[in-house]
Amino acid sequence: MAKTDTRDIKATVNQINELADCGCEIARVAVPDSEAAQAISNIKKKTSIPIVADIHFDYRLALESLRAGADGLRLNPGNIREPEQVTEVVKAARQRQVPIRIGINAGSLPPASKPSISTSKHMVNIALEQIKLLESLDFDLIKVSLKAFDVPTTVEAYRAIAAKISYPLHLGITEAGLPRAGAVRSAVGIGILLDEGIGDTIRVSLSAHPCEEVNTAYEILKTLGLRQHGPTLISCPSCGRAEVDIIGLAESVDSSLRDISQPIKVAVMGCVVNGPGEAKEADVGIACGRGKGAIFRKGKVVSTVAEKDFLKALMAEVKNLLN
Ligand code: SF4
Repeated sequence: MAKTDTRDIKATVNQINELADCGCEIARVAVPDSEAAQAISNIKKKTSIPIVADIHFDYRLALESLRAGADGLRLNPGNIREPEQVTEVVKAARQRQVPIRIGINAGSLPPASKPSISTSKHMVNIALEQIKLLESLDFDLIKVSLKAFDVPTTVEAYRAIAAKISYPLHLGITEAGLPRAGAVRSAVGIGILLDEGIGDTIRVSLSAHPCEEVNTAYEILKTLGLRQHGPTLISCPSCGRAEVDIIGLAESVDSSLRDISQPIKVAVMGCVVNGPGEAKEADVGIACGRGKGAIFRKGKVVSTVAEKDFLKALMAEVKNLLN
């Protein structure tokens, strides 16, 4: 999701293009007012990925966003409560064949009829009500999300709705926090669901630059073998056998790999004896010893280099392999 003020067209265009460069495939923008809705038209002229308008409270902003060319709408039915207003939006979306995501958030649910109902069930019930409303208007370009901060609640809700509907599901753990904890929460929640075959699109929500969200999302997909995207760094945790600063070297290699878009596995290992064997999965790697290191390819040592040349030699081998 873009984190710029949507009314600032230049900043929003720059951020969406930056997001596209780091692999984002759909961008959402906040639409807090009419000026933001109208800005979508100009934003679309200078960006290449689909733009989803995020609407809260005012259905008229959804209508304006559609007129401005939004490729999708995200509506939170918890805060557009008048069925006539939802109806008007659905009619306009149907005319333009624009999909609507019913975006349920645990934090903004309408009151439950039974106070004893669990949050996940309540989320599912609200989503099903909204789906029914959209279907009754002969609209089926529907996508659903059921996000909560709490991972077990989110997982329960998605499992339950996946058993009831066949519409695409957009996965996410909402307000997951700063990158360290947020990446873990997102990986656990989204990862469990994807591994069960649930989910069609994902968004990682972090209190960080949005490219960090995209990078984390790709790490989840790569970890599950669902997508290949850019390099994967395999690095040993280091231990008493390491004779060089493995953590520092792994960080430098990680930075150097950022400009590479091809999928390649690169290993940084702390000892010559165990390194190549332990990192057999890597395409290329380095196993470091005292003052020198062995560059290896697919587990086989291909050269030996001095410590001062570790980074340079490893990156040269990466480039050789990619060219
Ligand atoms: Fe320790 Fe070597 Fe394993 Fe790294 S590869 S953790 S240095 S034994």
